[in-house]
Amino acid sequence: MRAAWIGLGVMGFPMAGHLVTRGGVDVTVYNRTAAKAETWAGTFKGRAAATPAAAAEDADFVFACVGNDDDLRQVTIGDDGAFHAMKRGAVFVDHTTASATVARELHATAAARGLGFVDAPVSGGQAGAENGVLTVMCGGTPEDYARAEPLIAYFSRMRKLLGPPGSGQLAKMVNQIAIAGLVQGLAEAVNFGMKAGLDMEAVVEVISKGAAGSWQMENRHKTMIQGKFDFGFAADWMRKDLGICLDESRRNGAPLPVTALVDQFYAEVQKLGGGRWDTSSLIARFQNLDRAK
Ligand code: NAP
Repeated sequence: MRAAWIGLGVMGFPMAGHLVTRGGVDVTVYNRTAAKAETWAGTFKGRAAATPAAAAEDADFVFACVGNDDDLRQVTIGDDGAFHAMKRGAVFVDHTTASATVARELHATAAARGLGFVDAPVSGGQAGAENGVLTVMCGGTPEDYARAEPLIAYFSRMRKLLGPPGSGQLAKMVNQIAIAGLVQGLAEAVNFGMKAGLDMEAVVEVISKGAAGSWQMENRHKTMIQGKFDFGFAADWMRKDLGICLDESRRNGAPLPVTALVDQFYAEVQKLGGGRWDTSSLIARFQNLDRAK
């Protein structure tokens, strides 16, 4: 079994590693910044290639985890893109968080060349990637998914085919919409409690066991109280994702008023210099408002 992996960032580097360490898969990697590919190849005893096409030739599966739609187009159908070199019958599995539009477009291009394509964005963050316990939301044909699923399993705890091409990306949008409003609500609640003079760690210890409990509350309340925002998914990435959600909502007519507002709040966080702060940094807006008084 041979695989190629394109994009060795925070997520891709450990995910590709699990294919080797857990799956025993023969992996060739490509990364735009070649030094990272060399480091990966040294760490996991794999090979590094100079282009996506060179990595993809001879591979039965080609995985990608790059930034956005444009990056994805570049590494698939751009100059030296993987699609130009993949053998008929090979499957491309894309873990980038991108639009459903690009997923459908690339699925059609792949099918015309006799290739499979599965859109498979992930949730679970850096820790989920490093520990190999990601959630993977998939779109594609049942045949392509069935072939890719055993490999995806090497770095995930939960994975599922959710419908035709684009469905994985649509499910990831649902995920991000659900998180955006929740984190803003949590930021308001924590800020309110601190203003009221409550011991918020004690308050959260109690209310997290009731109806207000959430993963965000459990995992982020302490650092929100401390004003520390170095714990994962960045505001810059969240704005990219919410932009994708808002574009899609204009197409399907589902109103996203709270998501649109929270997107603007993240724009304020970026203006505060917090583009790389994690998503719980919405609470920093209140602290900044206080300072401005
Ligand atoms: P990252 O650390 O910034 O890595 C991005 C990777 O894509 C790097 O390997 C980068 O190469 C490569 N890349 C970007 N543009 C490229 C292009 N035009 N051509 C070739 N390679 C290109 O990002 P990440 O955190 O791993 O995130 C990757 C994807 O997963 C994103 O879509 C993100 O939204 C999604 N995601 C991230 C998280 C998270 O917690 N980080 C969670 C869920 C989903 P260089 O090394 O040369 O820059």
